[in-house]
Amino acid sequence: MSADDRDSDLAELVCELCRQFYTLGWVSGTGGGISIRGTDGIYLAPSAVQKERIRPSDVFVLDADALDRCKVVRAPVDATLKISECQPLFWNAYRERDAGACLHSHSLWPVLAARIQVPSGRGVLRLSGFEMLKGLRGKSNLDEVRIPIIPNTAREAELTESMAVAMREHPDVDAVIVAGHGIYVWGRTWIEAKTQAECLDWLARAVVEGHRLGIVRCSSVRAVQSAMPRRCPDAE
Ligand code: ZN
Repeated sequence: MSADDRDSDLAELVCELCRQFYTLGWVSGTGGGISIRGTDGIYLAPSAVQKERIRPSDVFVLDADALDRCKVVRAPVDATLKISECQPLFWNAYRERDAGACLHSHSLWPVLAARIQVPSGRGVLRLSGFEMLKGLRGKSNLDEVRIPIIPNTAREAELTESMAVAMREHPDVDAVIVAGHGIYVWGRTWIEAKTQAECLDWLARAVVEGHRLGIVRCSSVRAVQSAMPRRCPDAE
């Protein structure tokens, strides 16, 4: 496989995943995005564009060996395109966790789940009692998973330091929720990042729907061990 083939494959993959994420409501309104580390560099969708319409020639390739800065290896054909605002946050995942991919979703589910459990916008989202927990690195369906929540800021890049701190405080999980905003998820490969993002979205939706149905407190280890879901008498 030539370098050009690798370029076109990963650039096309970024476009394909953006289209899929758009259908899930993860990158609507030009928000969100994804980056994937390849042999030639880190492939990154451009900023403030309709993510479901980007083409491989719109994708930036940045130097994966210069994670202390943002160094362009290959710029898009369209010179008006800008590097994603998510870039310094994605770099947290490459620097701190040696990730193979990192995505940012503006999905409603983690945003609402975090607001239900932690209205202050600073703390952890607790997830337990669901089979989908198995899709998270190193977790079983009997674990309680704690996803850190950090407060939002006016600019995406201003989240960089608080995200890095949250990552160091929660080394067992591969995600950080930004209150009222969205979620960052990464993995050793793009497949692991996508799988974990899908599982977390499902789990966050379970929190929201459970809250709506008044069964939120049933999401416990005890509940998952019972044969049938039940309504908790002490649900709030
Ligand atoms: Zn965002």
